[in-house]
Amino acid sequence: MPLPNDLARLRFDSRFLDALPADPLDTPVPRQVSGAVYSWCAPTPVAAPQLLSWSASCAALLGLGSAPEDAQTSAAVFAGNHLLPGSRPYASCYGGHQFGQWAGQLGDGRAILLGTVIGADGRRLEVQLKGAGRTPYSRHADGRAVLRSSIREYLCSEAMHHLGIPTTRALCLVGTGEGVMRDMFYDGRSQEEPGAIVTRVAESFLRFGHFEIFAARGETDLLRTLLDYTITTHFPALGRPSKEVYVACFDEVCRRTAVMVAHWLRVGFVHGVMNTDNLSMLGLTIDYGPYGWIDNFDPAFTPNTTDRSGRYAFAQQARVAGWNLSCLANALMPVVNDAAALEQCLQHYGEHFEHTYLDMLRDKLGLAKDGEAEADMALINRLFACLGAAGADMTLFHRSLATIDATTPIDAALEMLAPAFYAPPDTRASEQLVDWLRSWQAQLATATEPDDMRRTRMNAANPWLIPRNWLAQSAIKAAEADDLSVLERLMDAIRTPYTVQPAYADLAVRRPDWARAEPGCAALSCSS
Ligand code: AMP
Ligand code: MG
Repeated sequence: MPLPNDLARLRFDSRFLDALPADPLDTPVPRQVSGAVYSWCAPTPVAAPQLLSWSASCAALLGLGSAPEDAQTSAAVFAGNHLLPGSRPYASCYGGHQFGQWAGQLGDGRAILLGTVIGADGRRLEVQLKGAGRTPYSRHADGRAVLRSSIREYLCSEAMHHLGIPTTRALCLVGTGEGVMRDMFYDGRSQEEPGAIVTRVAESFLRFGHFEIFAARGETDLLRTLLDYTITTHFPALGRPSKEVYVACFDEVCRRTAVMVAHWLRVGFVHGVMNTDNLSMLGLTIDYGPYGWIDNFDPAFTPNTTDRSGRYAFAQQARVAGWNLSCLANALMPVVNDAAALEQCLQHYGEHFEHTYLDMLRDKLGLAKDGEAEADMALINRLFACLGAAGADMTLFHRSLATIDATTPIDAALEMLAPAFYAPPDTRASEQLVDWLRSWQAQLATATEPDDMRRTRMNAANPWLIPRNWLAQSAIKAAEADDLSVLERLMDAIRTPYTVQPAYADLAVRRPDWARAEPGCAALSCSS
Protein backbone atom coordinates (compact mmCIF):
# COMPACT_ATOMS: atom_id res chain seq x y z
CA MET A 1 0.00 0.00 0.00
CA PRO A 2 1.60 3.33 -1.03
CA LEU A 3 1.71 5.64 1.96
CA PRO A 4 0.54 9.26 1.75
CA ASN A 5 3.28 11.78 2.55
CA ASP A 6 2.07 12.59 6.05
CA LEU A 7 2.23 9.00 7.30
CA ALA A 8 5.40 8.25 5.33
CA ARG A 9 7.16 11.02 7.28
CA LEU A 10 6.55 9.38 10.71
CA ARG A 11 9.85 8.21 12.18
CA PHE A 12 10.05 5.50 14.82
CA ASP A 13 12.52 5.47 17.67
CA SER A 14 13.51 2.17 19.28
CA ARG A 15 14.86 3.36 22.65
CA PHE A 16 12.12 1.61 24.67
CA LEU A 17 12.55 -1.64 22.77
CA ASP A 18 16.36 -1.51 22.91
CA ALA A 19 16.60 -0.61 26.59
CA LEU A 20 14.10 -3.11 27.94
CA PRO A 21 13.87 -6.89 27.61
CA ALA A 22 11.21 -8.50 25.38
CA ASP A 23 9.26 -11.66 26.00
CA PRO A 24 10.91 -14.32 23.78
CA LEU A 25 7.53 -15.78 22.76
CA ASP A 26 5.60 -13.88 20.12
CA THR A 27 2.12 -15.37 20.08
CA PRO A 28 -0.92 -13.65 21.58
CA VAL A 29 -1.76 -16.74 23.65
CA PRO A 30 -2.77 -15.54 27.15
CA ARG A 31 0.00 -16.27 29.62
CA GLN A 32 2.03 -15.07 32.56
CA VAL A 33 5.01 -13.22 31.09
CA SER A 34 8.08 -13.12 33.29
CA GLY A 35 11.50 -11.56 32.77
CA ALA A 36 10.16 -9.08 30.19
CA VAL A 37 8.63 -5.61 30.06
CA TYR A 38 6.72 -6.27 26.85
CA SER A 39 5.67 -8.90 24.32
CA TRP A 40 5.81 -8.58 20.56
CA CYS A 41 2.25 -8.54 19.37
CA ALA A 42 0.70 -7.43 16.08
CA PRO A 43 -2.77 -5.90 15.86
CA THR A 44 -5.45 -8.23 14.50
CA PRO A 45 -6.77 -6.73 11.25
CA VAL A 46 -10.40 -5.62 11.21
CA ALA A 47 -13.05 -6.06 8.50
CA ALA A 48 -13.78 -2.53 7.32
CA PRO A 49 -11.79 0.28 8.93
CA GLN A 50 -13.36 3.68 8.63
CA LEU A 51 -11.95 6.93 9.93
CA LEU A 52 -14.66 8.47 12.12
CA SER A 53 -12.85 11.41 13.66
CA TRP A 54 -9.42 13.02 13.66
CA SER A 55 -8.03 15.39 16.28
CA ALA A 56 -6.15 18.15 14.47
CA SER A 57 -4.60 19.27 17.74
CA CYS A 58 -3.15 15.85 18.56
CA ALA A 59 -2.13 15.34 14.92
CA ALA A 60 -0.02 18.50 15.13
CA LEU A 61 2.00 16.92 17.94
CA LEU A 62 3.01 14.17 15.57
CA GLY A 63 3.67 16.56 12.68
CA LEU A 64 0.50 15.40 10.90
CA GLY A 65 -1.96 17.77 9.27
CA SER A 66 -5.34 19.00 10.48
CA ALA A 67 -6.93 16.38 8.24
CA PRO A 68 -5.29 13.16 7.05
CA GLU A 69 -4.02 13.29 3.47
CA ASP A 70 -5.66 9.96 2.70
CA ALA A 71 -8.49 9.00 5.08
CA GLN A 72 -8.71 5.42 3.85
CA THR A 73 -5.03 4.66 4.34
CA SER A 74 -5.06 6.42 7.70
CA ALA A 75 -8.02 4.27 8.74
CA ALA A 76 -6.11 1.12 7.71
CA VAL A 77 -3.01 2.26 9.61
CA PHE A 78 -4.84 3.30 12.77
CA ALA A 79 -6.98 0.17 12.75
CA GLY A 80 -3.78 -1.87 12.77
CA ASN A 81 -4.50 -3.39 9.34
CA HIS A 82 -1.43 -1.83 7.80
CA LEU A 83 1.86 -1.46 9.67
CA LEU A 84 3.99 1.61 9.06
CA PRO A 85 7.64 1.03 8.14
CA GLY A 86 9.74 0.96 11.30
CA SER A 87 6.81 0.01 13.54
CA ARG A 88 7.39 -3.13 15.65
CA PRO A 89 4.17 -3.47 17.66
CA TYR A 90 4.08 -4.76 21.20
CA ALA A 91 1.95 -4.96 24.34
CA SER A 92 3.41 -4.21 27.75
CA CYS A 93 3.31 -6.15 31.00
CA TYR A 94 1.96 -4.57 34.15
CA GLY A 95 0.08 -5.55 37.28
CA GLY A 96 -2.00 -3.55 39.68
CA HIS A 97 -4.09 -3.14 42.77
CA GLN A 98 -7.74 -3.15 41.77
CA PHE A 99 -10.22 -1.82 44.35
CA GLY A 100 -7.59 -2.23 47.06
CA GLN A 101 -6.57 -5.79 46.22
CA TRP A 102 -3.45 -7.02 44.45
CA ALA A 103 -4.71 -8.38 41.11
CA GLY A 104 -1.48 -9.87 39.74
CA GLN A 105 -0.59 -9.54 36.07
CA LEU A 106 -2.90 -7.34 33.99
CA GLY A 107 -0.99 -5.76 31.10
CA ASP A 108 -2.08 -4.25 27.80
CA GLY A 109 -4.97 -6.61 27.12
CA ARG A 110 -6.31 -4.65 24.19
CA ALA A 111 -3.86 -1.80 23.72
CA ILE A 112 -1.09 -2.43 21.22
CA LEU A 113 1.76 0.03 20.89
CA LEU A 114 2.81 0.74 17.33
CA GLY A 115 6.02 2.20 18.78
CA THR A 116 7.54 5.53 19.70
CA VAL A 117 7.38 8.27 17.09
CA ILE A 118 9.52 11.40 17.01
CA GLY A 119 7.01 14.23 17.34
CA ALA A 120 6.97 17.58 15.59
CA ASP A 121 9.04 19.24 18.34
CA GLY A 122 11.48 16.34 18.60
CA ARG A 123 9.74 14.82 21.61
CA ARG A 124 9.30 11.05 21.69
CA LEU A 125 5.63 10.05 21.66
CA GLU A 126 4.28 6.55 22.08
CA VAL A 127 1.46 5.68 19.70
CA GLN A 128 -0.99 3.06 20.86
CA LEU A 129 -4.09 1.44 19.36
CA LYS A 130 -6.75 0.66 21.97
CA GLY A 131 -9.08 -2.13 20.89
CA ALA A 132 -6.64 -3.63 18.36
CA GLY A 133 -7.13 -7.29 19.26
CA ARG A 134 -5.83 -9.96 21.60
CA THR A 135 -2.45 -9.80 23.27
CA PRO A 136 -0.76 -12.16 25.76
CA TYR A 137 -2.39 -9.97 28.44
CA SER A 138 -5.99 -10.31 27.22
CA ARG A 139 -6.77 -13.12 29.67
CA HIS A 140 -10.26 -14.38 28.71
CA ALA A 141 -11.32 -11.14 26.96
CA ASP A 142 -11.47 -10.24 23.27
CA GLY A 143 -8.98 -7.38 22.98
CA ARG A 144 -11.62 -5.17 21.38
CA ALA A 145 -13.42 -1.97 22.34
CA VAL A 146 -16.92 -0.75 21.55
CA LEU A 147 -17.74 2.52 19.81
CA ARG A 148 -19.41 4.08 22.89
CA SER A 149 -16.38 3.66 25.16
CA SER A 150 -14.00 4.66 22.36
CA ILE A 151 -15.91 7.90 21.75
CA ARG A 152 -15.81 8.61 25.48
CA GLU A 153 -12.05 8.10 25.62
CA TYR A 154 -11.36 10.03 22.42
CA LEU A 155 -13.52 12.99 23.43
CA CYS A 156 -12.36 13.24 27.01
CA SER A 157 -8.63 12.86 26.28
CA GLU A 158 -8.78 15.88 24.02
CA ALA A 159 -11.14 17.81 26.30
CA MET A 160 -8.81 17.32 29.28
CA HIS A 161 -5.87 18.60 27.27
CA HIS A 162 -7.75 21.74 26.32
CA LEU A 163 -8.81 22.18 29.94
CA GLY A 164 -5.10 22.34 30.76
CA ILE A 165 -5.04 19.00 32.59
CA PRO A 166 -2.17 16.54 32.07
CA THR A 167 -3.51 13.64 30.00
CA THR A 168 -2.77 11.04 27.38
CA ARG A 169 -4.00 12.27 24.00
CA ALA A 170 -6.14 10.79 21.24
CA LEU A 171 -5.28 11.15 17.56
CA CYS A 172 -8.24 9.51 15.92
CA LEU A 173 -11.23 7.26 16.17
CA VAL A 174 -11.62 4.41 13.69
CA GLY A 175 -14.70 2.23 13.27
CA THR A 176 -13.78 -1.41 12.71
CA GLY A 177 -16.82 -2.51 10.72
CA GLU A 178 -17.06 -5.42 13.17
CA GLY A 179 -19.47 -6.13 15.99
CA VAL A 180 -18.33 -6.66 19.58
CA MET A 181 -20.41 -8.57 22.15
CA ARG A 182 -20.84 -6.76 25.45
CA ASP A 183 -23.00 -7.27 28.52
CA MET A 184 -23.14 -3.57 29.36
CA PHE A 185 -24.67 -3.94 32.82
CA TYR A 186 -23.44 -7.43 33.64
CA ASP A 187 -27.04 -8.64 33.80
CA GLY A 188 -26.83 -11.45 31.27
CA ARG A 189 -28.17 -9.36 28.39
CA SER A 190 -25.21 -9.39 25.98
CA GLN A 191 -25.64 -7.40 22.81
CA GLU A 192 -23.59 -6.86 19.71
CA GLU A 193 -22.28 -3.32 19.53
CA PRO A 194 -20.21 -1.55 16.88
CA GLY A 195 -16.46 -1.88 17.45
CA ALA A 196 -13.91 0.94 17.31
CA ILE A 197 -10.24 1.71 17.94
CA VAL A 198 -8.81 4.86 19.48
CA THR A 199 -5.25 5.84 18.65
CA ARG A 200 -3.77 7.12 21.89
CA VAL A 201 -0.63 9.24 22.09
CA ALA A 202 1.50 9.98 25.15
CA GLU A 203 5.09 10.60 26.08
CA SER A 204 4.75 7.34 27.99
CA PHE A 205 2.02 4.89 28.94
CA LEU A 206 4.02 3.61 31.94
CA ARG A 207 1.81 3.03 34.97
CA PHE A 208 2.45 2.38 38.66
CA GLY A 209 1.53 -1.22 37.88
CA HIS A 210 4.52 -1.63 35.55
CA PHE A 211 6.74 -1.39 38.64
CA GLU A 212 4.46 -3.30 40.97
CA ILE A 213 4.49 -6.43 38.83
CA PHE A 214 8.29 -6.82 38.93
CA ALA A 215 8.39 -6.09 42.66
CA ALA A 216 5.65 -8.66 43.28
CA ARG A 217 7.60 -11.26 41.33
CA GLY A 218 10.90 -10.46 43.00
CA GLU A 219 12.38 -9.45 39.61
CA THR A 220 14.52 -6.75 41.19
CA ASP A 221 17.00 -6.40 38.31
CA LEU A 222 14.16 -5.83 35.89
CA LEU A 223 12.57 -3.35 38.28
CA ARG A 224 15.85 -1.40 38.41
CA THR A 225 16.29 -1.54 34.63
CA LEU A 226 12.79 -0.14 34.12
CA LEU A 227 13.32 2.58 36.71
CA ASP A 228 16.67 3.55 35.14
CA TYR A 229 15.00 3.71 31.73
CA THR A 230 12.16 5.85 33.11
CA ILE A 231 14.59 8.30 34.68
CA THR A 232 16.96 8.65 31.75
CA THR A 233 14.11 8.91 29.22
CA HIS A 234 11.38 10.82 31.06
CA PHE A 235 13.09 12.56 33.98
CA PRO A 236 16.57 13.32 32.57
CA ALA A 237 16.83 16.54 34.61
CA LEU A 238 17.07 14.43 37.77
CA GLY A 239 20.53 13.22 36.75
CA ARG A 240 22.12 9.79 36.36
CA PRO A 241 20.24 7.01 38.17
CA SER A 242 21.40 6.48 41.74
CA LYS A 243 19.64 5.82 45.02
CA GLU A 244 19.09 9.56 45.55
CA VAL A 245 17.79 9.96 42.01
CA TYR A 246 15.37 7.05 42.50
CA VAL A 247 13.94 8.88 45.49
CA ALA A 248 13.83 12.16 43.55
CA CYS A 249 11.99 10.36 40.75
CA PHE A 250 9.37 9.02 43.16
CA ASP A 251 9.06 12.49 44.67
CA GLU A 252 8.40 13.89 41.20
CA VAL A 253 5.76 11.21 40.51
CA CYS A 254 4.13 12.25 43.81
CA ARG A 255 4.24 15.91 42.81
CA ARG A 256 2.76 15.31 39.36
CA THR A 257 0.03 13.05 40.75
CA ALA A 258 -0.90 15.76 43.26
CA VAL A 259 -1.20 18.35 40.47
CA MET A 260 -3.26 16.00 38.29
CA VAL A 261 -5.76 15.18 41.04
CA ALA A 262 -6.06 18.83 42.09
CA HIS A 263 -7.01 19.64 38.47
CA TRP A 264 -9.62 16.86 38.47
CA LEU A 265 -11.23 18.36 41.56
CA ARG A 266 -11.02 21.83 40.08
CA VAL A 267 -13.13 20.90 37.04
CA GLY A 268 -15.37 18.27 38.65
CA PHE A 269 -13.85 15.20 36.99
CA VAL A 270 -14.31 11.73 38.49
CA HIS A 271 -11.91 9.15 37.02
CA GLY A 272 -14.01 6.24 38.20
CA VAL A 273 -11.38 3.45 38.29
CA MET A 274 -8.30 4.69 40.10
CA ASN A 275 -6.64 1.29 40.31
CA THR A 276 -2.84 1.39 40.37
CA ASP A 277 -2.76 0.04 36.80
CA ASN A 278 -4.64 3.18 35.77
CA LEU A 279 -2.21 5.68 37.32
CA SER A 280 0.47 7.12 35.09
CA MET A 281 4.13 7.45 36.08
CA LEU A 282 4.14 10.81 34.30
CA GLY A 283 1.12 12.14 36.18
CA LEU A 284 -1.13 11.98 33.11
CA THR A 285 -4.83 11.20 33.29
CA ILE A 286 -4.96 7.75 31.71
CA ASP A 287 -7.56 5.10 30.81
CA TYR A 288 -10.87 6.83 30.37
CA GLY A 289 -13.43 4.19 31.35
CA PRO A 290 -16.51 4.82 33.49
CA TYR A 291 -15.40 8.38 34.26
CA GLY A 292 -17.83 11.21 34.78
CA TRP A 293 -18.33 14.85 35.65
CA ILE A 294 -20.00 16.42 38.61
CA ASP A 295 -23.25 18.08 37.55
CA ASN A 296 -25.02 18.90 40.85
CA PHE A 297 -22.28 19.18 43.45
CA ASP A 298 -22.09 15.83 45.24
CA PRO A 299 -18.77 14.79 46.80
CA ALA A 300 -19.94 11.15 46.99
CA PHE A 301 -20.68 10.95 43.27
CA THR A 302 -19.18 8.19 41.17
CA PRO A 303 -20.53 7.25 37.76
CA ASN A 304 -19.03 3.75 38.07
CA THR A 305 -21.77 1.25 38.94
CA THR A 306 -19.11 -1.39 39.71
CA ASP A 307 -17.82 0.78 42.58
CA ARG A 308 -20.60 0.08 45.08
CA SER A 309 -18.70 1.39 48.11
CA GLY A 310 -17.77 4.67 46.42
CA ARG A 311 -14.05 3.97 46.83
CA TYR A 312 -13.31 6.16 43.80
CA ALA A 313 -16.00 8.80 44.36
CA PHE A 314 -15.26 12.44 43.52
CA ALA A 315 -14.07 13.55 46.95
CA GLN A 316 -12.05 10.36 47.59
CA GLN A 317 -9.67 10.89 44.70
CA ALA A 318 -6.86 12.72 46.50
CA ARG A 319 -6.80 10.15 49.30
CA VAL A 320 -6.89 7.23 46.87
CA ALA A 321 -4.07 8.69 44.78
CA GLY A 322 -2.02 8.81 48.00
CA TRP A 323 -2.85 5.17 48.68
CA ASN A 324 -1.81 4.28 45.13
CA LEU A 325 1.45 6.16 45.57
CA SER A 326 2.13 4.12 48.71
CA CYS A 327 1.71 0.96 46.61
CA LEU A 328 4.26 2.39 44.19
CA ALA A 329 6.58 3.21 47.10
CA ASN A 330 6.35 -0.40 48.29
CA ALA A 331 7.13 -1.58 44.78
CA LEU A 332 10.23 0.64 44.58
CA MET A 333 11.55 -0.46 47.99
CA PRO A 334 13.70 -3.35 46.67
CA VAL A 335 15.79 -0.88 44.61
CA VAL A 336 15.59 2.17 46.90
CA ASN A 337 15.97 0.41 50.27
CA ASP A 338 15.10 3.54 52.20
CA ALA A 339 11.60 3.48 53.63
CA ALA A 340 12.05 6.81 55.43
CA ALA A 341 12.96 8.64 52.22
CA LEU A 342 9.95 7.20 50.38
CA GLU A 343 7.70 8.04 53.35
CA GLN A 344 8.88 11.60 53.14
CA CYS A 345 7.89 11.76 49.46
CA LEU A 346 4.43 10.50 50.39
CA GLN A 347 4.22 13.29 52.91
CA HIS A 348 5.26 15.74 50.19
CA TYR A 349 2.40 14.38 48.10
CA GLY A 350 -0.11 15.39 50.77
CA GLU A 351 1.46 18.81 51.21
CA HIS A 352 1.78 19.41 47.52
CA PHE A 353 -1.80 18.41 46.88
CA GLU A 354 -3.14 20.69 49.57
CA HIS A 355 -1.06 23.61 48.42
CA THR A 356 -1.94 23.16 44.73
CA TYR A 357 -5.61 22.54 45.39
CA LEU A 358 -5.92 25.60 47.64
CA ASP A 359 -4.18 27.70 45.02
CA MET A 360 -6.66 26.51 42.37
CA LEU A 361 -9.63 27.05 44.68
CA ARG A 362 -8.49 30.60 45.34
CA ASP A 363 -8.54 31.18 41.59
CA LYS A 364 -11.94 29.52 41.31
CA LEU A 365 -13.36 31.87 43.96
CA GLY A 366 -11.29 34.92 43.11
CA LEU A 367 -9.68 34.95 46.55
CA ALA A 368 -6.33 36.61 47.19
CA LYS A 369 -3.40 34.27 46.65
CA ASP A 370 -1.70 35.21 49.88
CA GLY A 371 -4.66 34.95 52.23
CA GLU A 372 -4.75 32.94 55.43
CA ALA A 373 -4.99 29.27 54.37
CA GLU A 374 -7.17 28.12 57.24
CA ALA A 375 -9.69 30.95 56.83
CA ASP A 376 -9.83 30.38 53.06
CA MET A 377 -10.39 26.65 53.50
CA ALA A 378 -13.16 27.36 56.00
CA LEU A 379 -14.88 29.64 53.48
CA ILE A 380 -14.41 27.04 50.73
CA ASN A 381 -15.81 24.22 52.86
CA ARG A 382 -18.84 26.34 53.71
CA LEU A 383 -19.39 26.83 49.98
CA PHE A 384 -19.16 23.08 49.33
CA ALA A 385 -21.77 22.48 52.03
CA CYS A 386 -24.03 25.10 50.40
CA LEU A 387 -23.60 23.67 46.91
CA GLY A 388 -24.34 20.17 48.17
CA ALA A 389 -27.39 21.22 50.17
CA ALA A 390 -28.80 23.32 47.34
CA GLY A 391 -27.95 20.80 44.60
CA ALA A 392 -26.23 23.46 42.55
CA ASP A 393 -24.43 22.69 39.32
CA MET A 394 -20.73 23.02 40.10
CA THR A 395 -19.62 24.35 36.70
CA LEU A 396 -22.45 26.82 36.18
CA PHE A 397 -22.28 28.09 39.75
CA HIS A 398 -18.62 29.02 39.50
CA ARG A 399 -19.01 30.73 36.14
CA SER A 400 -21.97 32.76 37.43
CA LEU A 401 -20.14 33.65 40.63
CA ALA A 402 -17.49 35.45 38.61
CA THR A 403 -20.11 37.93 37.37
CA ILE A 404 -20.93 39.01 40.95
CA ASP A 405 -18.82 41.59 42.77
CA ALA A 406 -18.51 42.98 46.29
CA THR A 407 -21.31 45.49 45.78
CA THR A 408 -23.88 43.32 43.97
CA PRO A 409 -27.11 43.33 46.04
CA ILE A 410 -27.93 39.86 47.37
CA ASP A 411 -31.18 39.56 45.40
CA ALA A 412 -29.41 40.39 42.17
CA ALA A 413 -26.61 37.94 43.04
CA LEU A 414 -29.13 35.15 43.64
CA GLU A 415 -30.75 35.90 40.33
CA MET A 416 -27.38 35.68 38.58
CA LEU A 417 -26.76 32.30 40.21
CA ALA A 418 -30.25 30.93 39.45
CA PRO A 419 -29.29 29.07 36.22
CA ALA A 420 -26.97 26.88 38.31
CA PHE A 421 -29.78 25.33 40.36
CA TYR A 422 -31.55 22.12 39.44
CA ALA A 423 -34.46 23.10 41.68
CA PRO A 424 -35.05 26.25 43.75
CA PRO A 425 -33.12 25.78 47.01
CA ASP A 426 -35.24 25.33 50.14
CA THR A 427 -35.32 28.05 52.81
CA ARG A 428 -32.46 26.62 54.85
CA ALA A 429 -30.24 26.14 51.80
CA SER A 430 -31.10 29.66 50.59
CA GLU A 431 -30.20 31.19 53.94
CA GLN A 432 -26.94 29.26 54.01
CA LEU A 433 -26.12 30.51 50.54
CA VAL A 434 -26.96 34.11 51.37
CA ASP A 435 -24.73 33.92 54.46
CA TRP A 436 -21.94 32.50 52.39
CA LEU A 437 -22.32 35.13 49.66
CA ARG A 438 -22.10 37.89 52.30
CA SER A 439 -18.86 36.40 53.68
CA TRP A 440 -17.44 36.04 50.19
CA GLN A 441 -18.40 39.58 49.21
CA ALA A 442 -16.85 40.87 52.43
CA GLN A 443 -13.62 39.15 51.42
CA LEU A 444 -13.79 40.66 47.91
CA ALA A 445 -14.32 44.10 49.42
CA THR A 446 -10.89 43.91 51.07
CA ALA A 447 -9.08 42.75 47.91
CA THR A 448 -6.46 44.95 46.29
CA GLU A 449 -6.76 43.15 42.93
CA PRO A 450 -8.79 45.08 40.31
CA ASP A 451 -12.17 43.47 39.74
CA ASP A 452 -11.67 42.74 36.04
CA MET A 453 -8.47 40.87 36.86
CA ARG A 454 -10.23 38.88 39.57
CA ARG A 455 -12.93 37.96 37.06
CA THR A 456 -10.41 36.94 34.41
CA ARG A 457 -8.60 34.77 36.96
CA MET A 458 -11.87 33.08 37.97
CA ASN A 459 -12.89 32.44 34.37
CA ALA A 460 -9.50 30.89 33.62
CA ALA A 461 -9.97 28.41 36.49
CA ASN A 462 -13.67 27.68 35.93
CA PRO A 463 -14.52 26.10 32.59
CA TRP A 464 -17.51 27.45 30.69
CA LEU A 465 -17.95 24.05 29.07
CA ILE A 466 -17.09 20.51 30.17
CA PRO A 467 -17.89 17.37 28.15
CA ARG A 468 -20.57 16.20 30.55
CA ASN A 469 -21.70 12.60 30.35
CA TRP A 470 -25.00 13.46 28.72
CA LEU A 471 -23.17 15.38 25.98
CA ALA A 472 -20.89 12.40 25.33
CA GLN A 473 -23.94 10.15 25.38
CA SER A 474 -25.72 12.32 22.80
CA ALA A 475 -22.66 12.09 20.55
CA ILE A 476 -22.57 8.30 21.04
CA LYS A 477 -26.25 7.81 20.22
CA ALA A 478 -25.89 9.85 17.03
CA ALA A 479 -22.66 8.07 16.02
CA GLU A 480 -24.30 4.69 16.54
CA ALA A 481 -26.91 5.87 14.03
CA ASP A 482 -24.10 6.91 11.61
CA ASP A 483 -24.36 10.61 12.39
CA LEU A 484 -20.95 11.93 13.44
CA SER A 485 -21.95 15.60 13.39
CA VAL A 486 -22.83 15.68 17.11
CA LEU A 487 -19.37 14.37 18.03
CA GLU A 488 -17.63 16.79 15.65
CA ARG A 489 -19.53 19.73 17.09
CA LEU A 490 -18.61 18.68 20.62
CA MET A 491 -14.97 18.15 19.64
CA ASP A 492 -14.94 21.68 18.25
CA ALA A 493 -16.62 23.16 21.32
CA ILE A 494 -14.19 21.57 23.81
CA ARG A 495 -11.18 23.20 22.14
CA THR A 496 -11.75 26.48 24.01
CA PRO A 497 -13.52 25.42 27.19
CA TYR A 498 -12.87 28.61 29.18
CA THR A 499 -14.31 30.93 26.52
CA VAL A 500 -17.99 31.71 26.18
CA GLN A 501 -18.97 30.43 22.73
CA PRO A 502 -22.49 31.64 21.83
CA ALA A 503 -22.70 29.09 18.99
CA TYR A 504 -22.39 26.32 21.58
CA ALA A 505 -24.58 27.82 24.29
CA ASP A 506 -26.86 24.76 24.16
CA LEU A 507 -23.93 22.62 25.38
CA ALA A 508 -23.08 24.78 28.40
CA VAL A 509 -26.21 24.10 30.38
CA ARG A 510 -27.39 21.99 33.31
CA ARG A 511 -27.84 18.26 32.81
CA PRO A 512 -31.29 17.79 31.28
CA ASP A 513 -33.86 15.72 33.17
CA TRP A 514 -33.73 12.81 30.70
CA ALA A 515 -30.07 12.26 31.60
CA ARG A 516 -30.55 11.94 35.36
CA ALA A 517 -30.82 8.17 35.45
CA GLU A 518 -29.98 7.36 31.82
CA PRO A 519 -27.37 4.57 31.39
CA GLY A 520 -24.23 6.13 29.96
CA CYS A 521 -24.98 9.44 31.69
CA ALA A 522 -25.38 8.83 35.41
CA ALA A 523 -24.50 5.14 35.49
CA LEU A 524 -21.59 3.53 33.69
CA SER A 525 -20.09 0.09 34.01
CA CYS A 526 -16.56 -1.07 33.26
CA SER A 527 -17.90 -3.00 30.26
CA SER A 528 -16.26 -1.31 27.31
P1 AMP B 1 -9.35 -1.31 32.75
O1 AMP B 1 -10.34 -1.59 33.83
O2 AMP B 1 -9.96 -0.86 31.45
O3 AMP B 1 -8.25 -0.42 33.19
O4 AMP B 1 -8.70 -2.72 32.37
C1 AMP B 1 -8.12 -3.59 33.31
C2 AMP B 1 -7.40 -4.70 32.59
O5 AMP B 1 -8.30 -5.44 31.78
C3 AMP B 1 -6.29 -4.23 31.66
O6 AMP B 1 -5.25 -5.16 31.73
C4 AMP B 1 -6.95 -4.26 30.31
O7 AMP B 1 -6.03 -4.42 29.27
C5 AMP B 1 -7.85 -5.47 30.44
N1 AMP B 1 -9.00 -5.42 29.53
C6 AMP B 1 -10.10 -4.62 29.64
N2 AMP B 1 -10.94 -4.87 28.61
C7 AMP B 1 -10.38 -5.80 27.83
C8 AMP B 1 -10.75 -6.46 26.62
N3 AMP B 1 -11.89 -6.22 26.00
N4 AMP B 1 -9.88 -7.37 26.11
C9 AMP B 1 -8.72 -7.64 26.73
N5 AMP B 1 -8.32 -7.07 27.85
C10 AMP B 1 -9.12 -6.17 28.42
MG1 MG C 1 -6.71 0.27 32.53
